[in-house]
Formats: sequence, structure tokens, C-alpha cells
Amino acid sequence: MTDDVRSEVLAVYAAADAAVSAAAPRCDASGRCCRFTEYGHTLFISAFEAEILLERAPRYEQPVSRDGCPFQIDGLCSARENRPLGCRIYFCDPTYEPRMSEITEESLAALKRIADAHGTGWNYAPLHHFLNARPRPDGADTMTPPVTRVPLSVVTPSGG
Ligand code: SF4
Repeated sequence: MTDDVRSEVLAVYAAADAAVSAAAPRCDASGRCCRFTEYGHTLFISAFEAEILLERAPRYEQPVSRDGCPFQIDGLCSARENRPLGCRIYFCDPTYEPRMSEITEESLAALKRIADAHGTGWNYAPLHHFLNARPRPDGADTMTPPVTRVPLSVVTPSGG
């Protein structure tokens, strides 16, 4: 990732953070947002977000399942500073759902504009695809080919 792309992606993060802060959703600190299968949702991220997340993420075991995020430790995020957009935008407060969808769509559109402007291509897949694609310290590679297009960052069946 070039410095220009990185700074533009971080600007999208900052705009999303500001929009979420303005909406002031309630957080019950349940940690359910990071336990994907248990609460019936999936965290999708772009290759941009994966690269930034993995720059400073703690070590983790591979393979990573789709069930949850390995960076949630004792109910807290251990990769908070570089967490992806879905983690920044998603809250289980039902009154925030409409605004959450808007912020998600605005943020993804902004990321796609960056991809178009810089000709990077667009990879978008569940978190575990990117975590398993990272080469392991022992040299083995558990890469799973990423899919190229899926909808919202986080999907819940009932506003969970
Ligand atoms: S990066 Fe952090 S906030 Fe996002 S799913 Fe993982 S533990 Fe949760």
C-alpha cells in the first residue's frame, strides 16, 4: 500500500469515527460484535483494512475460523487502534441501525473510490480470509483466495 492510499484510507476511518461519535450509539460492552457465529453476523473487510489491521495486530494462531476474531481478548479488542471499519461502525443498539447502514455505505463507497483512483483493484472478504492469507512465521501459507464483492461490513438478522 502506498503512503497516499494509506492516508486516504485513514481519512475514511476518521470520517467514520466522527459520524459514529455524532450518532452516539449505546454500547453495552457485551463483546458480541466480535463473536460472529454466536451472534449471527459476519465481519467483511477490504484488503486495505486488512493490511492496516495486520501492520500492528498481535500474533494469532492460524488457521482462523469464521466464528470470531482472534484479537478479542477478555471481551476487549487488542487491535483497537488499527481496527477495520466494521468494528468502528457496528454497534448493537437497535435505534442506531439506520444510521449505521448509512455510515457503512458511505465508508465503503469512499474506499471503493480510493481503489478506483489508485487502480488497486477491490478485494472484500470475511476477516478470517485475510487473517489466514497472512504468511505464517514458519513459512507455511494458509492462503484462502479472497472473494471480490460482498455487501455490508456487518450483517445481523435481527439487529442483534
Ligand atoms: S479487530 Fe477488535 S473490534 Fe474488530 S472484531 Fe477483532 S476484536 Fe473485535
